[in-house]
Amino acid sequence: MTSYKKNPYVICKSCQNELDKVKERENIENNNFNLLSNPRRVFQFNYPVKMDDGRIEVISGFRVQFNDALGPTKGGIRFHETVDLSEVTQLAFLMSLKTSLVRLPYGGAKGGVRINPKELSEGELERVTRGYMRELHKYIGVDVDIPAPDVNTNPKVMGWMLDEYEKLVGFKAPGIVTGKPLKLGGSKGRDVATSLGAFYIIEEKYKDVKDKSEIKVAIQGFGNAGSHLAKELQDLGFTIVAISDSSSGLYSREGLEVDHFIGYKQSRKHFSDYEEKNGIKKITNKELLELECDILIPAALGGEITSENANNIKAKTIVEVANGPITVEADQTLEDKGIEVIPDILANAGGVIVSYFEWVQNRQYLYWSEDEVKVELKDYILKAYKKVKYHVEDTNTTLRSASYSIAINRILEAETLRGN
Ligand code: GLU
Repeated sequence: MTSYKKNPYVICKSCQNELDKVKERENIENNNFNLLSNPRRVFQFNYPVKMDDGRIEVISGFRVQFNDALGPTKGGIRFHETVDLSEVTQLAFLMSLKTSLVRLPYGGAKGGVRINPKELSEGELERVTRGYMRELHKYIGVDVDIPAPDVNTNPKVMGWMLDEYEKLVGFKAPGIVTGKPLKLGGSKGRDVATSLGAFYIIEEKYKDVKDKSEIKVAIQGFGNAGSHLAKELQDLGFTIVAISDSSSGLYSREGLEVDHFIGYKQSRKHFSDYEEKNGIKKITNKELLELECDILIPAALGGEITSENANNIKAKTIVEVANGPITVEADQTLEDKGIEVIPDILANAGGVIVSYFEWVQNRQYLYWSEDEVKVELKDYILKAYKKVKYHVEDTNTTLRSASYSIAINRILEAETLRGN
């Protein structure tokens, strides 16, 4: 991800670039904008964790509460060996825009722990998680800041976070984290929420296409979001021509049988070990991004489409299911080439929308059916998508710029009403 390494508290170049564009277009005063160029609160801590062999490791943790004008801050915690403060700040900024764009009563935050979870035993992972919560618990709360899963974190990790928090404060607080296991107050549908949100947008966009099999889709990343989305799109009739994990991509002109590959990944195998057969070929992740297709879905990590490969992208539409998969330079190239980009703050907002439903259910101790969750999710995400589309028609801009404008204006209105 492009970032201002020198001052990690300042948002990254791509975010600043978009902010500047909105500022110019909408004639917003400088003073107001400063509220959005810097995070409200930043926490960084280094804490000791005992490893299985008796060694003490010092682990770095981060949490950035970027803006809270619209409500308590909300956002996931990622476990990754490259996490740093500038990345977490940038992602917290994006969360602020995301919650604003889809009209949730939240601000935005993000957290991170600099570890490679694949190198840790289950016990070590639990101690890292509980240690992080011990450091952070004084600065979060059901009405202050509500963490959730992100890259490499899942319901099990959220269960440990909840338990540690409740032990520290001495009372039950199920709404302190979302994305929990169902039995600990998680919401039905949260596990598929990110993919479902993207799915509803794609379904709406292509609703008039009679023969959906003509729509060729390539998906980078076959984790939770990527694999569920592949399945939902295939069930609707789209042709999934390529998928990938971090080891390799797989390609078939005729389309891949998604269920088969979900089963393959469940057996903990890598695509690089897949035996090429029945017209299925191995391709690299780089080749996948450059395939001839209708929809390209980056659903892995950030910074995948850069100035190096943007010119080679042949997809007609890109749906950003990952956070920040396109760098600012690449974004401009794609715009010049006429490639439509459905931005992350809209395309992957399904996750935080159902997190919001989970938090509402926790506060009421009253739980919804899966159908209720899906109906509400569809309503929230399509309202936002349609609003963005009208804005694009009115102002002749891109989906990303329109999304930023709507989100930023809502935050600034709240700041103004607060007298800031
Ligand atoms: N990590 C997810 C995101 O980037 C979900 C955040 C949440 O549910 O609070 O949107």
